[in-house]
Amino acid sequence: MSDAHSHTHSHGQSCVVSRGETEALVDEFVASLRADGFRRTDALVALLRVMIRNHQPYTLAELAEVEDLRERDQATIYRLVMKLKDAGKMRQLNLAGRVSYFQLVLPGHHHDYLRCESCGEVQEVPLPCALAEVERELMHSLGWKGLHHELEFIGLCPACAD
Ligand SMILES: [Zn+2]
Ligand SMILES: [Zn+2]
Ligand SMILES: [Zn+2]
Repeated sequence: MSDAHSHTHSHGQSCVVSRGETEALVDEFVASLRADGFRRTDALVALLRVMIRNHQPYTLAELAEVEDLRERDQATIYRLVMKLKDAGKMRQLNLAGRVSYFQLVLPGHHHDYLRCESCGEVQEVPLPCALAEVERELMHSLGWKGLHHELEFIGLCPACAD
């Protein structure tokens, strides 16, 4: 059962995908995951739906509290997260905190994050990525392909800064 007092990060201004687009992406994911040995199970569909609709980094503890996942077998969810990671569909964010965050890899999506070093709050940077142009320039001038980056801003969130 859910714990009403358990802590969930607020993720202000994070990336939300429309219901229709989410369903289309779930189908695309399931189809492309067949090659990696995934079957279309209710647990897989539920996990993908949650992680696409609110496209943000989740800890395993946060996933376990999400309404559509909390009644499910947590070991199954954990195995699916790890399997998605092995298949290259899940980022494990190197947020330097004590817990790992997982975020589904969505084509065309790139987000950077702020992290509070006091309470662990993680918030999406609500600005266009300043490094996109640098990345394009590096690929153009150095001939690298598929460059990407993870950027973490560390400091105190407004609540902790008070
Ligand atoms: Zn996104
Ligand atoms: Zn804080
Ligand atoms: Zn960035």
